[in-house]
Amino acid sequence: MLPDAIANQIAAGEVVQRPASVVKELMENSIDAGASFVQLIVKEAGKVSIQVIDDGKGMSPQDALMSFERHATSKISKAEDLFAIRTMGFRGEALASIASVAQVELKTRREEDELGRLLRMEASVLKENEQIAAPKGTSILVKNLFYNIPARRNFLKSNPVEMRHILDEFQRIALANPEIKFSLIQNEQETYALPVEKLGKRIVDLFGKTYREQLAACEENTNYVSIKGYVGRPEYAKKTRGEQFFFVNNRFIKSSYLHHAVMSAYERLVPEGTFPFYVLFLTIDPSHIDINVHPTKTEIKFDDERSIYAILQAAIRKTLSLNHLIPSLDFDANVNFRNPSGAPSSISSFSGANSPRPVQEAWKKLYEGLNDNIEAFERGNVADPSTNLFSETSTTIQSKANTWTADSSSHTNFQVIQILNKYLVVTLSGGMLLIDQKKAYQRILFDQFSENLVKKNGVSQQLLFPQILRINPADSVLLEEILVDITDLGFGLTKDVEENYWIQGVPAGIGEEDGQNLLEGILEQVKNEASDLGQNHSEKIARILANRTAIRYQTKKLLSEEMSALVEQLFASTNPSYSPNGEIISRQLNEAEIGQLIG
Ligand code: ADP
Ligand code: MG
Repeated sequence: MLPDAIANQIAAGEVVQRPASVVKELMENSIDAGASFVQLIVKEAGKVSIQVIDDGKGMSPQDALMSFERHATSKISKAEDLFAIRTMGFRGEALASIASVAQVELKTRREEDELGRLLRMEASVLKENEQIAAPKGTSILVKNLFYNIPARRNFLKSNPVEMRHILDEFQRIALANPEIKFSLIQNEQETYALPVEKLGKRIVDLFGKTYREQLAACEENTNYVSIKGYVGRPEYAKKTRGEQFFFVNNRFIKSSYLHHAVMSAYERLVPEGTFPFYVLFLTIDPSHIDINVHPTKTEIKFDDERSIYAILQAAIRKTLSLNHLIPSLDFDANVNFRNPSGAPSSISSFSGANSPRPVQEAWKKLYEGLNDNIEAFERGNVADPSTNLFSETSTTIQSKANTWTADSSSHTNFQVIQILNKYLVVTLSGGMLLIDQKKAYQRILFDQFSENLVKKNGVSQQLLFPQILRINPADSVLLEEILVDITDLGFGLTKDVEENYWIQGVPAGIGEEDGQNLLEGILEQVKNEASDLGQNHSEKIARILANRTAIRYQTKKLLSEEMSALVEQLFASTNPSYSPNGEIISRQLNEAEIGQLIG
């Protein structure tokens, strides 16, 4: 038999991974105790202390002591109960685990008791147990998490990262319980004060006002499961994940299977790699599910997965079509979406790839000085090869230049057609040239953005209507970090009194409606590449921006002027052969090669 303290520490390895796990367990206990107000107080991202105070039913002195015993729970008592779980907890191991890896102070009083109880535990050892005067409810203070396991303490991430995890847990619990009042105090500052409210309002209070207009209510009732909640309009879909919430019987769960069901309903409505917002509550007879898959209880098994999938998918489709979010025409046509209200919709941002935007103007700007380049190019004065990443490049350019001039006297005298909305075929006197249009755009845009960054004077295209930047409040720290670079690129950002960012301008040449999208993409990338952002900071940002902007040309029908312009610009670029990501942009086929192909 292992001593209790060790057994608890082993269990703690699974239940308590980081400060956020403590937050989750304590807050769930408060919910189970029927609290109507739950306050979370954290210091130094929970590394110094985490405290949860509730006004729930409290514990008797006896139960207070028992609560730190492993497998002590008031929530179930027999095996059958496992199939009728309505509480968040039931395993009776959270408090025991937490108390084995921290210093814990518990204060609790039931309504019917005159005096409350104070218990102090350190690494599973009871240090204090006395009567105190206390308000009704329970307060649990957890200090110095992992103080007795230095290896785990060192393993904790930076404060912003740990705080982000805590916010995630707080958000999930607050979403699931809009009828409960919550407060979050971070290092003495109240960052969330959530009154009792309806779900929709709770979402807005948690994520910001900009979420108000994007919510579409979803409801579906069947014998097997009922679904309720909100889904985001497709045009608000984000590159970042983390705003997709499933609750089964009010418990937050992660399920790639259910996520897939939702995404399938959004198919063709959101660009690949973006995710709509959703908060969905599934209510199902507990006997049909098993949440006892993992100690953290975020995984679930359904006895009839397929039905859930089908019902969920249908429910979301219905919501989207009721809200006129599913276009009725062929998607490739230039559907001009309108909101039900009749206001012009910003939906074009997701159909952006197809919309006939007045890109022409922006393009013209890009072409300025182009002719000079082309002429220099034809004379063999190729752009400075020192900027090229690949040594063979200059010769490639040279050979292409020769084919060019051999073809005709005028540089516009070539023919170009588009195939599959993806590739350009250019006629050369000696054969043909195949160009990947997206990669070509990546190169051209990269050049333009790099130049802007070097010169620190990105041409900004002012927006007629500034757009609010919808970012998770937790991301604004990251944004501040790259603010200088993105300003150099041509983004114009301002902050209002409520700390919201507004996009006032975007780099010239990118679509107005893409500002939000691009900034999100940059932030996402910066988050993932944070470790090595230091060097080549700006080059990386230029590349990210070029890649993000070029995505919309992945498949896009181009006008013939756009095609010739693209070809001309590509050959005026610093490296027409390789994209900034090092991928081949074009391939030349000469007569012999064509002959061989046909064989
Ligand atoms: P579980 O939640 O799985 O039952 P815990 O270790 O989280 O296990 O809690 C043990 C017991 O302590 C609970 O069953 C409950 O009776 C009691 N308890 C814990 N937190 C509270 C609280 N905030 N208010 C009232 N009782 C609580
Ligand atoms: Mg619990």
